[in-house]
Amino acid sequence: ATPTSIMVGTGRAAELGVLFRKGDTLQRLDTVKAIAFDKTGTLTRGRPELADQWAAPGFEASDVLRLAASAETGSDHPIAQALIQAATDSETPQSVEAIPGFGLRAIVDGQTVLVGAERLMNREDISLAPLEKALASMAAKGQTPVLVAVDGRIAGAFAVADQVKPEAARALAVLRERGISLAMITGDTASVARNVAADLGIDHVQAEVLPEGKRDAVRQLQIELGAVAFVGDGINDAPALAEADVGIAIGTGTDVAIESADVVLISGDLAGAVTALDVSRRVMRNIR
Ligand code: ADP
Ligand code: MG
Repeated sequence: ATPTSIMVGTGRAAELGVLFRKGDTLQRLDTVKAIAFDKTGTLTRGRPELADQWAAPGFEASDVLRLAASAETGSDHPIAQALIQAATDSETPQSVEAIPGFGLRAIVDGQTVLVGAERLMNREDISLAPLEKALASMAAKGQTPVLVAVDGRIAGAFAVADQVKPEAARALAVLRERGISLAMITGDTASVARNVAADLGIDHVQAEVLPEGKRDAVRQLQIELGAVAFVGDGINDAPALAEADVGIAIGTGTDVAIESADVVLISGDLAGAVTALDVSRRVMRNIR
């Protein structure tokens, strides 16, 4: 492409809320065969809400919620907001340690509180037997389970559910019309991932992926499908954004994601992914 056509293309994209941060990105985007999306905050709003709750025998649901919300004070994970909003009161934890991809561990009221995914409890050898029914219910409904353990015993579970962004279905349908393969790479459970993927017609789904695993998942797609763009919003997406042939950050996401990306969708609107692709194709076609 000529410097002028690139300048015109990137200028036009910027007017439409799509920021190209590097000059050669237009060329690379034109070669992309597949686009892989993070789920939470990228395909979904990233504002999960509390949908259901269970207490294990010997615990009160309201106490468990208060402990969980207290543990999440100061966390910027979307699940933290869901718990904090639902709890009527909470207190400042004595200490908190985030465990990326798993959840967190905090001391609240002198008690050790773990909040996070099923694999956090498995890692800590905490039996989930008392909450088997709750887990089955959440899996069936495609909800994300948030488990809480207190002093080494499972205490309760919360179901959280996040909504797909309103423009997602249309944007992904257009990308598919353009011949692009669609994929999802998420840290969330397989049942939640399958649910969202089915709604949006995404063929390739990788769930329960740890943050470092997202980069490997991108490499795998590159081997299977060719050049890959990755769209993400979180700290945990930074390695995948850097690894992809084109990294596309959600502008409302974390700074780390934005700094790792080649393209930024300023408002987070997924239609921007279509705009980016179309601008790159138009610019590249002019010079061929
Ligand atoms: P993603 O944003 O793709 O879901 P993360 O790597 O942030 O992935 O987290 C993976 C999973 O770990 C989440 O779906 C959630 O179940 C759990 N998790 C991570 N951090 C927290 C937290 N602060 N509170 C509760 N659960 C968490
Ligand atoms: Mg995310």
